[in-house]
Amino acid sequence: MLERDNAKQRIAQLSALLAEYNRRYYVDNAPVVSDFEFDALMHELEDLEKRFPEFASPDSPTRHVGSDIDAPKGENAESGAGREFVKRSHRYPMLSLSNTYSIEEIREFAARADKILQGESFSYCCELKFDGTAIALTYRDGRLVQALTRGDGAVGDDVTRNVLRIANVPQKLSGSGYPAEFEIRGEILMPYEAFDALNRERELDEDPPFANPRNAASGSLKLLDSDEVAKRGLICTLYHIPSDTDAFATHDEALRAAASWGLPVSPERRLCKDIADIEQYIAHWDKERSSLPFPTDGIVIKINEFAAQRELGYTAKSPRWAVAFKFQAERALTTLESIDYQVGRTGAVTPVANLTPVLLGGTMVKRATLNNEDWMRELDVRIGDKVYLEKGGEIIPKITGVDLASRPVIAATPSFPRTCPDCGAPLVRPEGEARSFCTNADGCPTQICGKMVHFLSRKAMNVLAGDATIARLYELGLAETPADLYTLRKEQLMLLDGWQEKSASRFLESLAKSRTVPFERVLFALGIRYVGETTARQIARHFGSIDAIAAASEEELLAVSDVGEVIARSVYQWLKDPRHLREIERLREAGLQMSVSTSASNAPTSEVLKGKTIVISGNFSISREDMKALIERNCGKNSSSVSSKTSFLLAGTKPGPEKIRKCEELGIEIMDEAAFRSLLGPDAQSVVSEAPSASAPSWDPEPTLF
Ligand code: NAD
Repeated sequence: MLERDNAKQRIAQLSALLAEYNRRYYVDNAPVVSDFEFDALMHELEDLEKRFPEFASPDSPTRHVGSDIDAPKGENAESGAGREFVKRSHRYPMLSLSNTYSIEEIREFAARADKILQGESFSYCCELKFDGTAIALTYRDGRLVQALTRGDGAVGDDVTRNVLRIANVPQKLSGSGYPAEFEIRGEILMPYEAFDALNRERELDEDPPFANPRNAASGSLKLLDSDEVAKRGLICTLYHIPSDTDAFATHDEALRAAASWGLPVSPERRLCKDIADIEQYIAHWDKERSSLPFPTDGIVIKINEFAAQRELGYTAKSPRWAVAFKFQAERALTTLESIDYQVGRTGAVTPVANLTPVLLGGTMVKRATLNNEDWMRELDVRIGDKVYLEKGGEIIPKITGVDLASRPVIAATPSFPRTCPDCGAPLVRPEGEARSFCTNADGCPTQICGKMVHFLSRKAMNVLAGDATIARLYELGLAETPADLYTLRKEQLMLLDGWQEKSASRFLESLAKSRTVPFERVLFALGIRYVGETTARQIARHFGSIDAIAAASEEELLAVSDVGEVIARSVYQWLKDPRHLREIERLREAGLQMSVSTSASNAPTSEVLKGKTIVISGNFSISREDMKALIERNCGKNSSSVSSKTSFLLAGTKPGPEKIRKCEELGIEIMDEAAFRSLLGPDAQSVVSEAPSASAPSWDPEPTLF
């Protein structure tokens, strides 16, 4: 009895959870759990529903494909997915595939087919399982007339205008013998290279990066702007012609015909006669798929003969004549050769593994993070071990495990250093911190150079000098602190390899220009731990000057909005250090701003934007930083992402398409610069330059120097 009650509860719980995960995955294109985790929960629900069918609801996630069709306006306001597409019914339902991670279950699939087909001869067609988003194309008289997404399996979004912009989709067929009208299905994919480029661009536009190429492909296909779709580097691969006619006897024959009409059909499929052949195909691609330029997440095994397929039929959610074998999340196994302990600008020491190079997700990986000392201990990792690595969030690979079975007889246990690998000073691990820090903040070369690089960075003083230049200035004994940079002379700079009069002059001009950078950014440039750009601005505006901040107690610092105990203590202690006070004096003498400007242009110019939250996107007649400052000076609030709380999007030239789409979805006003300026009125337009524009650096470094 108790088991029944528990089962009922668990079924309800799993159904709700999976429905939510489906929405995050298909509609938001932003999954919150791994596929492996999702599939494990789905299998648990399937098992429970088999044992307790009385509790299985007709709309259980086990009975329907996850839908990429959006909720009605308002229900899922943050998703930004396109609701502008016309919905159309599929001629044949567009289903999913049953899937497994176990070879044993593939054997069971083959045995079941054997049993149902009762000795009838049949073969298998094995294909790659492309990890993108499904598409159904219709060709009429040799012309592409319709492209529908899977939608909820019965009705999909008409994305024809976007698919027409995908380079390898023929608008017109070649060859001969194609039916007057037919449908062909496949996948829209984003190759790794296009994915990396897209995420780099999104980062620049302050849009969140896509978690993986599948989400990026599916998000891109639903863009409202087809020109943007054309730029995304999507490709299409086709793998199924649904039909109720006898035009072809086998699946493979149908695909060969499709290829002869100029359609992009993957050549990697193979006909297999038995389970041994299938296993060989799986083993081959489990290894080789990492060399493919696009993502795959498994292989698909299909019964090749259409007559046998018809006999096997369908469940509500998937064909009985096909099954997907899914690969575990892509990971690689390689040897840990050594560990470097890297010191960052704040003194944090990170263990970085040097590996025998290995291909992972399309790129050659030589280094991966081991996070921190605790993680190294938990893994019990030794030099010479075979280690597993995965791409965390697709960006920096991390070591996730050790293959203990292949541990060499002699394998040294690495010991996390107790002293700084760069300067030898003791390391400390503050309470509650996972990382250890070098205590020699003002004497450690890596920290010194890191601080100068930060000081000059774009959002700080915006003097564009590379790490190598700073390291060289330090090595030559020319600069140890930011204040030293302001004492440099042209002859000294010309000692740097490759520097000539022109580059030295430009660097000096750029430094001179930085003297006008507002105090808010000077405070950020000082590199006080935990004081980011926004916190620096808040503290600067609250106290008005460096002297007032230096005189403030921890309690007084706590009065600044968003400043908690950790930040207050950090600022307080930093400003108690006589070396820092001396540095501040030198920077003041060098002419840097040490108080908030009281000029009329820096004080609030108007309250026109009071209570308004504004998102900016694209390029303007002034830098983006200046535009943000202009908003604040008129009492508006800047925000980096569009949500229902956004008052309007201020769009310059080339605004981010995702932001535009979200605004259209949420019915949020999009304002151009001219309209914005007329809203402010002539008296509210002044702005003191906050940061020169990234696209027009004040100093254009010579490429060979960096
Ligand atoms: P699926 O991706 O497991 O398999 C079916 C799909 O495979 C088809 O619709 C088709 O688009 C594609 N496919 C690729 N190559 C193919 C080929 N050669 N032949 C036929 N089809 C091919 O199924 P799905 O229904 O699209 O998605 C369900 C899966 O998505 C789940 O099993 C899970 O792994 C993942 N998912 C993950 C989350 C999450 O939060 N992580 C949420 C929902 C779904």
